[in-house]
Amino acid sequence: MNYNKIRKMDISNGPGVRVSVFFQGCAFHCKNCFNKETWDFEAGNSFGDEQIEEIIKLAEPGHISGLSILGGEPMHPKNIENTTKLVKRFKKSYPNKTIWAWSGFLFDDYLKDKEVVNYLDVLVDGQFVDELRDPRLKWRGSANQRVINVPESLKKKEIILYCD
Ligand code: SF4
Repeated sequence: MNYNKIRKMDISNGPGVRVSVFFQGCAFHCKNCFNKETWDFEAGNSFGDEQIEEIIKLAEPGHISGLSILGGEPMHPKNIENTTKLVKRFKKSYPNKTIWAWSGFLFDDYLKDKEVVNYLDVLVDGQFVDELRDPRLKWRGSANQRVINVPESLKKKEIILYCD
């Protein structure tokens, strides 16, 4: 599995100042995707234990609110194992910092039974649909996407939104 980049301080993807990682590889190929350079699964650099430990270290300062995971597609079958490893390690180190993830896969369709969701605080799900693009939306690019409160959704066994 490869990654595209790690941002030490990201103020655009989730609340507060966050460490963010952009994984490499996405098979959805949404029209007018904002991040086409991440489509190729073979591009970028190899992601493994070294990068996980780097992220843990970057997130240590008190002003870092949490970790954001974007793509590419972090939940693609080729990527989900490492994504799970990363979020598990992150929550063990920082139980009070939040983890946000963006995925083209739907929570109720594919992700709800995957181990990874047990460590997420917020999931923004759904592919980007250019016809539904709305720059006024918070944390998402198109109106079909949902900003989901994952722990509450797992508890209540229905989709509970973090925000509209
Ligand atoms: S799911 Fe995201 S990264 Fe993949 S093509 Fe769509 S917008 Fe781009």
